Amino acid sequence: MTTQLTILGSGTTVSSLVRPFDFRHPAGYLLQAAGKNILLDCSEGIRARLEHIQFDYFQLDAVCITHFHPDHFNLDSLLQSLFVRAKRGGVTKKLTIYGPPKIAEHLADFLNRKNDPDFWSLIMPKVLHLEFFEFSDQQPYQLAPGLRLCPYAVAHGNMDAYALRFVIDNKIFAYSGDSGVCAGLVAAAKSAEFFLCEAAYDSSDEIPPVTSHLSPRLAGKVAQNAGAKKLLLTHYTGLDSPTMMQEAVRKSGFAGDIELATDFARFQLN
Ligand SMILES: [Zn+2]
Repeated sequence: MTTQLTILGSGTTVSSLVRPFDFRHPAGYLLQAAGKNILLDCSEGIRARLEHIQFDYFQLDAVCITHFHPDHFNLDSLLQSLFVRAKRGGVTKKLTIYGPPKIAEHLADFLNRKNDPDFWSLIMPKVLHLEFFEFSDQQPYQLAPGLRLCPYAVAHGNMDAYALRFVIDNKIFAYSGDSGVCAGLVAAAKSAEFFLCEAAYDSSDEIPPVTSHLSPRLAGKVAQNAGAKKLLLTHYTGLDSPTMMQEAVRKSGFAGDIELATDFARFQLN
Protein backbone atom coordinates (compact mmCIF):
# COMPACT_ATOMS: atom_id res chain seq x y z
CA MET A 1 0.00 0.00 0.00
CA THR A 2 1.35 3.42 -0.98
CA THR A 3 2.35 5.85 1.73
CA GLN A 4 2.31 9.42 0.50
CA LEU A 5 2.79 12.90 1.94
CA THR A 6 1.42 15.97 0.18
CA ILE A 7 2.53 19.43 1.23
CA LEU A 8 -0.51 21.72 1.52
CA GLY A 9 1.50 24.57 3.02
CA SER A 10 5.27 24.90 3.38
CA GLY A 11 5.24 28.47 4.71
CA THR A 12 4.88 30.09 8.09
CA THR A 13 2.38 32.64 9.27
CA VAL A 14 4.64 35.27 7.60
CA SER A 15 5.43 33.47 4.36
CA SER A 16 5.55 36.71 2.38
CA LEU A 17 8.11 38.30 4.68
CA VAL A 18 10.73 39.07 2.01
CA ARG A 19 9.32 38.70 -1.48
CA PRO A 20 5.64 39.76 -1.41
CA PHE A 21 4.63 37.43 -4.25
CA ASP A 22 6.73 34.46 -3.18
CA PHE A 23 3.60 33.06 -1.58
CA ARG A 24 3.60 29.82 0.35
CA HIS A 25 0.70 28.72 2.53
CA PRO A 26 0.99 28.09 6.29
CA ALA A 27 0.99 24.61 7.81
CA GLY A 28 -0.96 21.65 6.49
CA TYR A 29 0.11 18.18 5.27
CA LEU A 30 -1.91 15.26 3.95
CA LEU A 31 -0.51 11.89 5.05
CA GLN A 32 -2.01 8.90 3.26
CA ALA A 33 -0.93 5.67 4.91
CA ALA A 34 -2.40 2.24 5.66
CA GLY A 35 -5.55 3.24 3.77
CA LYS A 36 -6.13 6.27 6.01
CA ASN A 37 -6.26 9.95 5.01
CA ILE A 38 -4.77 12.00 7.82
CA LEU A 39 -4.43 15.77 7.93
CA LEU A 40 -1.41 16.99 9.90
CA ASP A 41 -2.09 20.52 11.16
CA CYS A 42 -4.76 22.74 9.68
CA SER A 43 -4.06 26.39 8.95
CA GLU A 44 -6.70 28.64 7.39
CA GLY A 45 -7.94 27.64 3.95
CA ILE A 46 -6.86 24.00 4.12
CA ARG A 47 -10.20 22.79 2.70
CA ALA A 48 -9.47 24.76 -0.49
CA ARG A 49 -5.88 23.45 -0.57
CA LEU A 50 -7.22 19.86 -0.43
CA GLU A 51 -9.67 20.60 -3.23
CA HIS A 52 -6.83 22.10 -5.27
CA ILE A 53 -5.09 18.71 -5.27
CA GLN A 54 -8.39 17.01 -6.21
CA PHE A 55 -8.75 15.48 -2.76
CA ASP A 56 -12.29 15.47 -1.36
CA TYR A 57 -12.02 16.74 2.21
CA PHE A 58 -15.01 14.55 3.14
CA GLN A 59 -12.64 11.57 2.79
CA LEU A 60 -10.47 12.66 5.72
CA ASP A 61 -10.34 9.99 8.42
CA ALA A 62 -8.34 11.85 11.05
CA VAL A 63 -6.75 15.18 11.91
CA CYS A 64 -3.67 15.65 14.09
CA ILE A 65 -3.03 19.10 15.55
CA THR A 66 0.45 19.68 16.96
CA HIS A 67 -0.32 22.90 18.88
CA PHE A 68 -2.78 25.77 19.03
CA HIS A 69 -0.98 28.57 17.16
CA PRO A 70 -3.41 29.80 14.47
CA ASP A 71 -1.12 28.89 11.55
CA HIS A 72 -1.53 25.25 12.67
CA PHE A 73 -4.97 25.22 14.30
CA ASN A 74 -7.81 26.67 12.26
CA LEU A 75 -9.89 23.55 12.38
CA ASP A 76 -13.25 25.11 13.22
CA SER A 77 -13.80 26.31 9.64
CA LEU A 78 -13.06 22.83 8.24
CA LEU A 79 -15.49 21.27 10.74
CA GLN A 80 -18.12 23.81 9.73
CA SER A 81 -17.66 22.76 6.08
CA LEU A 82 -17.93 19.08 6.98
CA PHE A 83 -21.06 19.76 9.04
CA VAL A 84 -22.87 21.67 6.28
CA ARG A 85 -21.82 19.15 3.64
CA ALA A 86 -23.09 16.21 5.73
CA LYS A 87 -26.33 17.98 6.62
CA ARG A 88 -27.14 19.00 3.05
CA GLY A 89 -26.17 15.58 1.76
CA GLY A 90 -28.34 13.80 4.33
CA VAL A 91 -25.41 11.69 5.52
CA THR A 92 -23.26 11.41 8.63
CA LYS A 93 -19.51 11.96 8.77
CA LYS A 94 -17.10 10.49 11.29
CA LEU A 95 -13.74 12.16 12.05
CA THR A 96 -11.11 11.36 14.65
CA ILE A 97 -9.20 14.32 16.05
CA TYR A 98 -5.88 14.09 17.91
CA GLY A 99 -4.34 17.11 19.58
CA PRO A 100 -3.15 18.81 22.77
CA PRO A 101 -5.31 18.70 25.90
CA LYS A 102 -8.52 20.73 25.77
CA ILE A 103 -8.72 20.67 21.96
CA ALA A 104 -12.41 19.71 22.08
CA GLU A 105 -13.18 22.58 24.46
CA HIS A 106 -11.42 25.07 22.16
CA LEU A 107 -13.38 23.87 19.14
CA ALA A 108 -16.68 23.88 21.04
CA ASP A 109 -16.05 27.48 22.10
CA PHE A 110 -15.13 28.61 18.55
CA LEU A 111 -18.08 26.90 16.89
CA ASN A 112 -20.69 27.87 19.48
CA ARG A 113 -19.64 31.53 19.20
CA LYS A 114 -19.88 31.41 15.41
CA ASN A 115 -23.17 29.52 15.28
CA ASP A 116 -25.74 28.75 17.95
CA PRO A 117 -24.95 28.28 21.68
CA ASP A 118 -26.27 24.72 21.29
CA PHE A 119 -24.32 24.02 18.10
CA TRP A 120 -21.63 21.80 19.64
CA SER A 121 -23.79 19.80 22.01
CA LEU A 122 -27.07 19.45 20.12
CA ILE A 123 -26.92 20.51 16.47
CA MET A 124 -23.55 19.35 15.11
CA PRO A 125 -23.66 15.77 16.54
CA LYS A 126 -26.73 14.96 14.44
CA VAL A 127 -24.52 14.58 11.37
CA LEU A 128 -20.88 15.13 12.38
CA HIS A 129 -19.53 12.44 14.71
CA LEU A 130 -16.23 13.53 16.25
CA GLU A 131 -13.99 11.38 18.39
CA PHE A 132 -11.20 13.11 20.35
CA PHE A 133 -7.88 11.90 21.73
CA GLU A 134 -5.81 14.31 23.81
CA PHE A 135 -2.04 13.94 23.47
CA SER A 136 0.06 12.91 26.41
CA ASP A 137 3.84 12.69 26.07
CA GLN A 138 4.77 9.36 24.43
CA GLN A 139 1.29 7.83 24.76
CA PRO A 140 0.85 5.89 21.49
CA TYR A 141 -2.23 5.27 19.39
CA GLN A 142 -2.90 2.51 16.89
CA LEU A 143 -4.66 4.31 14.02
CA ALA A 144 -4.98 1.23 11.83
CA PRO A 145 -3.21 -2.11 11.36
CA GLY A 146 0.37 -1.15 10.46
CA LEU A 147 -0.11 2.51 11.42
CA ARG A 148 0.92 3.74 14.84
CA LEU A 149 1.22 7.33 16.14
CA CYS A 150 3.22 8.49 19.11
CA PRO A 151 3.27 12.18 20.15
CA TYR A 152 6.34 13.65 21.85
CA ALA A 153 6.16 16.83 23.94
CA VAL A 154 8.54 19.44 22.48
CA ALA A 155 9.81 22.93 23.35
CA HIS A 156 7.86 25.72 21.68
CA GLY A 157 7.93 28.75 23.96
CA ASN A 158 5.18 28.40 26.54
CA MET A 159 2.95 26.49 24.16
CA ASP A 160 1.83 22.89 24.77
CA ALA A 161 3.31 21.42 21.58
CA TYR A 162 4.01 17.95 20.18
CA ALA A 163 6.11 16.34 17.49
CA LEU A 164 4.53 13.32 15.81
CA ARG A 165 6.22 9.98 15.20
CA PHE A 166 4.40 7.58 12.89
CA VAL A 167 5.43 3.97 12.49
CA ILE A 168 4.05 2.83 9.13
CA ASP A 169 4.74 -0.84 8.37
CA ASN A 170 7.94 -0.65 10.46
CA LYS A 171 9.16 2.52 8.69
CA ILE A 172 9.30 5.76 10.61
CA PHE A 173 7.95 9.11 9.47
CA ALA A 174 8.36 12.02 11.89
CA TYR A 175 6.91 15.55 11.83
CA SER A 176 8.36 18.22 14.12
CA GLY A 177 5.32 20.50 14.39
CA ASP A 178 6.87 23.69 15.77
CA SER A 179 9.82 23.06 18.08
CA GLY A 180 13.13 24.34 19.30
CA VAL A 181 16.04 21.97 19.93
CA CYS A 182 14.98 19.51 22.65
CA ALA A 183 15.28 15.86 23.61
CA GLY A 184 11.64 15.19 22.74
CA LEU A 185 12.17 16.20 19.13
CA VAL A 186 15.29 14.04 18.76
CA ALA A 187 13.39 11.09 20.24
CA ALA A 188 10.43 11.65 17.92
CA ALA A 189 12.73 11.57 14.88
CA LYS A 190 14.95 8.69 16.09
CA SER A 191 16.07 6.61 13.09
CA ALA A 192 13.32 8.11 10.92
CA GLU A 193 13.38 7.23 7.25
CA PHE A 194 11.71 10.56 6.60
CA PHE A 195 11.81 13.61 8.90
CA LEU A 196 9.56 16.56 8.04
CA CYS A 197 11.05 19.35 10.09
CA GLU A 198 10.36 23.02 10.57
CA ALA A 199 12.99 25.70 9.94
CA ALA A 200 11.02 28.81 10.83
CA TYR A 201 14.11 30.70 11.95
CA ASP A 202 16.70 31.83 9.48
CA SER A 203 20.48 31.53 9.70
CA SER A 204 20.75 34.93 11.39
CA ASP A 205 18.51 33.74 14.27
CA GLU A 206 20.87 31.05 15.56
CA ILE A 207 22.62 33.24 18.13
CA PRO A 208 21.43 33.62 20.85
CA PRO A 209 20.12 30.04 21.14
CA VAL A 210 16.50 29.73 20.13
CA THR A 211 13.93 27.76 22.08
CA SER A 212 10.79 28.15 19.99
CA HIS A 213 11.85 27.21 16.47
CA LEU A 214 14.72 25.76 14.45
CA SER A 215 16.97 27.29 11.82
CA PRO A 216 18.09 25.05 8.91
CA ARG A 217 21.38 24.31 10.70
CA LEU A 218 19.60 23.42 13.95
CA ALA A 219 17.15 21.21 12.03
CA GLY A 220 20.19 19.45 10.56
CA LYS A 221 21.66 19.05 14.04
CA VAL A 222 18.45 17.45 15.32
CA ALA A 223 18.29 15.16 12.27
CA GLN A 224 21.93 14.19 12.78
CA ASN A 225 21.45 13.47 16.49
CA ALA A 226 18.34 11.45 15.71
CA GLY A 227 20.03 9.44 12.96
CA ALA A 228 17.32 10.40 10.46
CA LYS A 229 17.93 9.31 6.88
CA LYS A 230 16.09 12.03 4.97
CA LEU A 231 15.37 15.58 6.12
CA LEU A 232 12.57 17.57 4.48
CA LEU A 233 12.64 21.20 5.61
CA THR A 234 9.33 23.02 5.84
CA HIS A 235 7.67 25.97 7.61
CA TYR A 236 10.38 28.38 6.44
CA THR A 237 10.15 32.08 5.59
CA GLY A 238 12.35 32.20 2.49
CA LEU A 239 14.75 34.76 3.97
CA ASP A 240 17.53 32.27 3.24
CA SER A 241 17.81 31.07 -0.37
CA PRO A 242 17.39 27.32 -1.00
CA THR A 243 21.16 27.02 -1.52
CA MET A 244 21.85 28.83 1.78
CA MET A 245 19.43 26.51 3.58
CA GLN A 246 21.07 23.37 2.17
CA GLU A 247 24.55 24.66 3.02
CA ALA A 248 23.40 25.55 6.55
CA VAL A 249 22.09 22.01 7.07
CA ARG A 250 25.42 20.54 5.89
CA LYS A 251 27.27 22.69 8.45
CA SER A 252 25.41 20.76 11.15
CA GLY A 253 27.17 17.58 10.07
CA PHE A 254 23.98 15.94 8.82
CA ALA A 255 25.01 13.60 6.00
CA GLY A 256 21.64 12.26 4.89
CA ASP A 257 19.38 13.45 2.09
CA ILE A 258 18.04 17.03 2.25
CA GLU A 259 15.02 18.43 0.47
CA LEU A 260 12.99 21.62 0.79
CA ALA A 261 9.22 21.35 0.88
CA THR A 262 7.22 23.40 -1.61
CA ASP A 263 3.47 23.80 -1.76
CA PHE A 264 1.66 20.85 -3.35
CA ALA A 265 4.82 18.74 -3.64
CA ARG A 266 4.21 15.00 -3.11
CA PHE A 267 6.62 12.54 -1.51
CA GLN A 268 6.42 8.74 -1.51
CA LEU A 269 7.36 7.49 1.94
CA ASN A 270 7.77 3.81 1.04
ZN1 LIG B 1 3.82 27.64 16.64
